Amino acid sequence: MMDLNLASEQRSLFATATTQFERAADLIGLPDEYRTILGSPKNEVIVNFPVTMDDGEIRLFRGYRIQHNNLLGPYKGGMRFSPEVNLDEIKALATWMTWKTALSNVPFGGAKGGITMEPRDHSQAEMSRIVRRFTHALGDNIGPEHDIPAPDMGSNAQCMVWMMDTYANTRSANDRGTAKRVVTGKTVDCGGSIGRDKATGQGVAFTLAHYFETHDRSLDGVPVAVQGFGNVGEHSARVLASMGASIEAVADHTGAIVAPGVGIDPEALWLHVFKAGGVAGFAEADAATDDEFFAADVEVLVPAALENQITVGRVADIKARVIAEGANGPTTPEAEELLVDRGIEIIPDVLANAGGVVVSYFEWVQNKGSQQWDLAKVDEKLRTHLWSACDAVEHMRKHYACTRREAAYAVALSRLQTVYEQRGVWP
Ligand code: NAD
Repeated sequence: MMDLNLASEQRSLFATATTQFERAADLIGLPDEYRTILGSPKNEVIVNFPVTMDDGEIRLFRGYRIQHNNLLGPYKGGMRFSPEVNLDEIKALATWMTWKTALSNVPFGGAKGGITMEPRDHSQAEMSRIVRRFTHALGDNIGPEHDIPAPDMGSNAQCMVWMMDTYANTRSANDRGTAKRVVTGKTVDCGGSIGRDKATGQGVAFTLAHYFETHDRSLDGVPVAVQGFGNVGEHSARVLASMGASIEAVADHTGAIVAPGVGIDPEALWLHVFKAGGVAGFAEADAATDDEFFAADVEVLVPAALENQITVGRVADIKARVIAEGANGPTTPEAEELLVDRGIEIIPDVLANAGGVVVSYFEWVQNKGSQQWDLAKVDEKLRTHLWSACDAVEHMRKHYACTRREAAYAVALSRLQTVYEQRGVWP
């Protein structure tokens, strides 16, 4: 039984990632040599770079690119722009990417990066200079066959286009064509995949649909609460609503809203957020506190904002029976233990939010073959990838009689172990 005091819950995010890794490694008896290799990132790149602000001031920014593992293919993972970005957080997020790509069976490794800054404080012109200068500072640490960034919290398709354009313009003429696939999550006009914008939310919905189908149910009429209404939260809400679910509570950095028994129209909410900057003040729902949001009388909770949101203190209030982790690391290990004791099902982040990286892989493949797939093809291939990952996790869960997170890690670690065993550790 783990120590359930709040001090242990406030450990670093990388310590959380390590705790989860060690539990799964114990479960499958992962040999020590692979524990050692997988227990730390391979490369930790930190860059400090100057940028001219609109008023002429020169500001120094700090950026990170942590490359955790590339056994299965090029490093892959998002770029997070937030004031909270720090080395420990990015190491945890990079580690989770290695498990996510291995679990969803895409030929990539794991990485993550970011800049410590508040994107909301900068004009478009400043954002362009910050992202371009960051890309330049990273230099050959990224590359279309080496390390392929994508959007994460605070970054978007436009940021990816700036990264791609900067990278391409610093290559020789002959290498500019391949430069397009140095990042994924670009705008469709600039080589992005159709369906990448909604892919993570679509994946959250597919994994939930799989869960309900294996319980002989559908999502029709299922009440849902979504925390975060950015890329992941908005698209989760939209796709789940299109599958018949009823979005009854939403929260973001501006506040929370609830509409019990009535439901919130994601399109109307999106229009409101577009104008107002957040969900607070949406006229067709009632204002609520954060505590009321977590206590909403729903069956499914989708945390799709920040890490460490579902804490020990919140567990008793949660009425949802299923939690699908759209965000990375939203549940502390201590809270998870209590949730599992209460019989609440958790679809872990490495599975629930893997839709983004799977469609990023599709984008990379399309760029490589100078193709563009239609939405039906992208969605169907995404569903197939995620449902086979869900099946593999359920199989492992029964085999080890363990939690769904441990099972997801067990699938990923077993795949990595097999490849290490066959390739050996060089030289
Ligand atoms: P985003 O920047 O588009 O949106 C973030 C959302 O979180 C916003 O709605 C914001 O208001 C909300 N938020 C911020 N602070 C909050 C607070 N204190 N309380 C409640 N809400 C708050 O980011 P995103 O891309 O949607 O990423 C959200 C999460 O999903 C992150 O954990 C990210 O790592 C993970 N994720 C993203 C992707 C992707 O493709 N974008 C893929 C996999 C996982």
